[in-house]
Amino acid sequence: MTAAMGGSVTATVRAAYALPSDVALHESGHVVGDIAAGVSIRSVEIDRRSGAGLVRVGVSRHVPDLWALLVAHLSGLVAESFFTGGNLQSRECADLAHAREVAVRLLGMTDRRSIDVLVSEANVAAWRFVCENQAAIAPLAYELDERGRLTGAECKAIVGTVTAIPARRAW
Ligand SMILES: [Zn+2]
Repeated sequence: MTAAMGGSVTATVRAAYALPSDVALHESGHVVGDIAAGVSIRSVEIDRRSGAGLVRVGVSRHVPDLWALLVAHLSGLVAESFFTGGNLQSRECADLAHAREVAVRLLGMTDRRSIDVLVSEANVAAWRFVCENQAAIAPLAYELDERGRLTGAECKAIVGTVTAIPARRAW
């Protein structure tokens, strides 16, 4: 009941403001997060009908900043929540699983509670990042909806300057 009501409210708001699709917002959040983390984007594509999306990244010569990478893994879900007002924490398990893998690499251990704490912290950082970069994420999402696929160069041209992912306060 609650979920159905939430869905219809979201649909109404979406129609009134002509928001981009969920998948376009989600993948745009990843793209902007990846750019900020120094990951090179090869392409991004979405299928609005199935709701599937994919960001292809290049092989980078430098070791990425794992904290920034962790935040970028969460920025897809967070961008979707941020723009639509939905709570999607349980929806896309693949992103959370990837985030947890990076957290394990960062911590050098697999203690469940420590991983939970780090991923929660990264989630807060991802909200801050998406909030600060909403003016980059939204136009990318509209363009992605329009064209279905964008190259990395096209993404960079649309996104412009991205605010860096803030460093973690203490280790
Ligand atoms: Zn994702």
